[in-house]
Amino acid sequence: MTENLVLGKKIAEGKTKIVYESTNANEVILEFKDDITAGDGLKHDVIPGKGYLNCAISAKLFEVLESAGVPTHFIKYIPPNYLIVRKVTMLPVEIVCRNIAAGHLLQRFPVKAGDPLNPPLVEFFLKDDELHDPMLNDMHMAYLKLANRDECDEIRKITLQVNDALKEFFASKGIILVDFKIEVGRDGSGRFLVSDEINGDSCRLWAETEKGKIFDKDVYRKGGSLEEVKNVYVTLYKKLIGQEPKY
Ligand code: UDP
Repeated sequence: MTENLVLGKKIAEGKTKIVYESTNANEVILEFKDDITAGDGLKHDVIPGKGYLNCAISAKLFEVLESAGVPTHFIKYIPPNYLIVRKVTMLPVEIVCRNIAAGHLLQRFPVKAGDPLNPPLVEFFLKDDELHDPMLNDMHMAYLKLANRDECDEIRKITLQVNDALKEFFASKGIILVDFKIEVGRDGSGRFLVSDEINGDSCRLWAETEKGKIFDKDVYRKGGSLEEVKNVYVTLYKKLIGQEPKY
């Protein structure tokens, strides 16, 4: 067991993470698993070391956001694969922000792959694998009692702050932030905090100089070998953290 870490009762387990109670009632502990999934969980594999890489990358990106003044749930990274985070009530919504047209957007709208999206596009999707995560507008959000109109505006504002901070950070590493997904939760006072994880599983990241080179889960979605996928996560770790992986 990792030093100084006391895992409480398991609260929830998802496809790539387990949530545990902590000794502090205002915090929970996230364990990043080595599982990788795509297509609403239909494609599933295990890549040893992936949980560590994604956890360390998430910690780094949450630090970048905190430094930029974006409210997040992040408290502390406990290597190799645990985050101590503020306890929030998660909104079951995926918030996607797009700078360049890619992925599912191409199937839904008359846009071409690689088209710049200026201003960036922010979209909401209900987290529901059986319904294939349907898109939500502000009226659906209110009808489903997920968030009222003002809260939808607030979530969009936070998402665009995340975009600005991450775009700048990735650019400093020679990486283009094409799009990403975040999730938010409400803390005890109802304030939205950027929560969950942010890493190569939840972003599209393209090399600035080498056309076609990518550093994200699309390698897995498009059928790359597990070794190729692992190499992509290792490369992303090295670019963002600036050192060799330790575990
Ligand atoms: N994304 C995610 N989880 C999902 C769906 C999408 O993290 O369940 C991320 C994805 O990695 C990409 C962005 O959200 O960076 C936009 O994804 P898109 O809607 O294009 O769907 P995809 O083609 O990735 O399924």
